[in-house]
Amino acid sequence: MAQEMEVVTIGNTKIALKRGDITQEEVDAIVNAANPRLLGGGGVDGAIHRAAGPSLLQECRQIGYCAPGEAVVTGAGELKARYVIHTVGPVWRGGTRGEERVLASAYKESLKRAVGKGAATIALPAISTGAYGFPVDLAAKVSLCAIKEFVEENPGALEQISLVLFGENIYKAFGKAFEACFIR
Ligand code: ADP
Repeated sequence: MAQEMEVVTIGNTKIALKRGDITQEEVDAIVNAANPRLLGGGGVDGAIHRAAGPSLLQECRQIGYCAPGEAVVTGAGELKARYVIHTVGPVWRGGTRGEERVLASAYKESLKRAVGKGAATIALPAISTGAYGFPVDLAAKVSLCAIKEFVEENPGALEQISLVLFGENIYKAFGKAFEACFIR
């Protein structure tokens, strides 16, 4: 299990920041930072498909497409989770193409889909901070604000939201934004 580094509770919802590998999370739903064609790839997408096995790609092929800022749900194959929620973050193009809005939407739509499936616990990665090139400090702020807003708008809808962060620099950026967003 990933180590919990920061935790805050809003109403009945616990929000935790951890370092670790999201494929190891024992939660109802794991969020994948997918690409629009849902065909798997590198980064967290590749790790989730490898860990889930071929049934995940089959389900993704049937769905076929997900627009940036939206999310679709599949089963979770051999993962410990019940569902994988595939969302598509924005590709960073300098910040003038609505990237912040699309990133916030990717988080909120993922959380909404989880609630729609009756999931109580969910783990999410740092969407768009890898191949999609979103600046990490800004991504951390936008991501955590979107999660906070969702929890405030949907009190008690989820028991636990874990952000599972893979790299040191990503973790540090989210740690800083976490304090700014939740503690102060
Ligand atoms: P995107 O295309 O949305 O940028 P990436 O998969 O390239 O997606 O990167 C998103 C984030 O996922 C990056 O911060 C990367 O370090 C992280 N990541 C990669 N593998 C894992 C994993 N197994 N668990 C959690 N996060 C991961």
